[in-house]
Amino acid sequence: MTQVMNHGGGVHSIKVPIPDNPLGHTLVHVLDTGRGPVLIDTGWDDPEAWDTLTAGLTAIGVDITGIHGVVITHHHPDHHGLSGQVREASGAWIAMHAADTAIVRRTRESEPGTWLSYLAAKLATVGAPEDHIAPLLAAREKGGRMRTLPGLRAALPDREIVPGELLDLAGRRLRAIWTPGHTPGHVCLHLEEDHPANLPGRGRLFSGDHLLPGISPHVGLYEDPDSATETDPLGDYLASLERIGRLGVAEVLPAHQYAFPDAAGRVRELLDHHEERLTGLLGLLAEPLTPWQLAERMEWNRPWEQIPYGSRNIAVSEAEAHLRRLVKLGRAEAVAGSGPVTFVAV
Ligand SMILES: [Zn+2]
Ligand SMILES: [Zn+2]
Repeated sequence: MTQVMNHGGGVHSIKVPIPDNPLGHTLVHVLDTGRGPVLIDTGWDDPEAWDTLTAGLTAIGVDITGIHGVVITHHHPDHHGLSGQVREASGAWIAMHAADTAIVRRTRESEPGTWLSYLAAKLATVGAPEDHIAPLLAAREKGGRMRTLPGLRAALPDREIVPGELLDLAGRRLRAIWTPGHTPGHVCLHLEEDHPANLPGRGRLFSGDHLLPGISPHVGLYEDPDSATETDPLGDYLASLERIGRLGVAEVLPAHQYAFPDAAGRVRELLDHHEERLTGLLGLLAEPLTPWQLAERMEWNRPWEQIPYGSRNIAVSEAEAHLRRLVKLGRAEAVAGSGPVTFVAV
């Protein structure tokens, strides 16, 4: 099966596998420029992924040593994992939005056990049962930096992607659109050039994880042990969706699944989906619930009992993001004096 697709107009994509992950693969895009090819995202840090990436580049006549630059949509390991290895092989620069670069720096510098303590405390706050928190405390006692945790050796970017600006790419018009929500520094990249097959609309959009044809991306809280700022990631995400819907692009080139034409239609679907989901949650919040209890009652892609340990942490973070949004909208509130804190519809 071919891993490479020619999208025309000096754009290719390579299907780079993600090990043991239902998403299957990351679509790494290759953009020709006057100073050499530029990658948009790089794929998971894994030998098979690396081999697939370099073989895919060879198939389109590019040697890994010739990569000019790397543009990263967001810091997640399925997008930024191989960036360091690409830079080592080629001397390419790596560009990322400052908010996600801050996360990369913080993760690299995190002290052993700090993250585990943070997570354990946070889970207690949201009402997680003791038998869920105990393994984290045990791992911390064992002196535990989890050496396999992705991101510990992620590359520090050397360029900043500035929202609204054109990237410095010879002969191409690629504009950064800040789309916070999935991560605080997620960017989409708008290729402001005529569509090579003359599809109607304004250019093409590299959408990362922000806009995917068949998946609603995870939106949880922005995790930052050092910050007490009350962010609203779901509010950010919905506003970012509207911003992308207004661009009127001819085609979307996402980082997973497949390219698709109707960005505005997909944006509408996702906005409707989230509106329905928020309304559904209000029904559940007729009685006061902790974020954990809400997560247990929310609809996921499988029953709660079958959701693995790590994914429950992600699910409860998503429940919290929804609660944050409902509170900001004035549709739910924290119950005074409850501990762990419960929320109820108003
Ligand atoms: Zn992601
Ligand atoms: Zn992804």
